[in-house]
Amino acid sequence: MRKMSAPWPNGARVAVCLSWDVDGESAQYVRFPDRAPNQLSELHQRLYGPQVGIWKVLDLLRKYDIPGTFYIPTYTAKLHPDVVEAVQKDGHALGLHGHLHHSLEVLTLEQEEEILVHSQQIFRELTGSVPRIFRAPSWELNRWTPELLVRHGVLSDSSLMDDEKPYALETPAGQLIEIPIHWLLDDAEHWNHSRANRDKAIADPDAVFRLWSTEFDGYYASGGCYVLTLHPFISGRWAYMAVVERLIRHIRQYPGVWWTTLDRVTDWALERLAQQELPVRQSPAPEPLEF
Ligand SMILES: [Zn+2]
Repeated sequence: MRKMSAPWPNGARVAVCLSWDVDGESAQYVRFPDRAPNQLSELHQRLYGPQVGIWKVLDLLRKYDIPGTFYIPTYTAKLHPDVVEAVQKDGHALGLHGHLHHSLEVLTLEQEEEILVHSQQIFRELTGSVPRIFRAPSWELNRWTPELLVRHGVLSDSSLMDDEKPYALETPAGQLIEIPIHWLLDDAEHWNHSRANRDKAIADPDAVFRLWSTEFDGYYASGGCYVLTLHPFISGRWAYMAVVERLIRHIRQYPGVWWTTLDRVTDWALERLAQQELPVRQSPAPEPLEF
């Protein structure tokens, strides 16, 4: 039996992070380079996020007095500085999420570094500071990514799926805090619906509520860090926002919940790491080990 992580602040039993990736239209240019220049419909569909969805999300968080975490590609941040400003004004956390939402697997180390530095510069110009937390577009990490992040001052990533609690990932440049996520807790897997994937059925909102709340009950029992990944252009729609609100109300029934941001969980994890109370992990070997 491995050592349990230390308890959450103030004796809380579970940490809950509601996070939004405010992708806007950025991803379309790299995902569909042939189609994007002339295909207006999907670009406009994605604009629903920064134009409409995000404002409903901010209202919801205000209603329940809950902090949120917002990972924003800097292409979207540049085009919608009002979104960045509103997120900051409400005291939520901002995170790095690429510039044009390139999935990292298509990039060389040099390209990846250039984009990371570019996105940090844009945030510095827009807000006067650089977010300390990162989530990879599409949750794709290259083998060198954790080291690259550490070298550029990033403190945590939230893109891997091997745990339900934060841990420290060893890199040649030092340790990176990893705050795990999962497909099940991502609105896109259930509800992202566009012309490109019209064969996929739209998931029943009630079924998604059952999945999310059942997962929460498990995280609560085991003392995990429950990270929900949402997108304003997807679950900003009323039928889906109703599920997010229902989930908030479900979680609020439990005592000992730490409603927090990935930024604050990063600080907590770094404190535990300093006290040698956080698990430290290595990535799997690049080639199979010989036994
Ligand atoms: Zn994204």
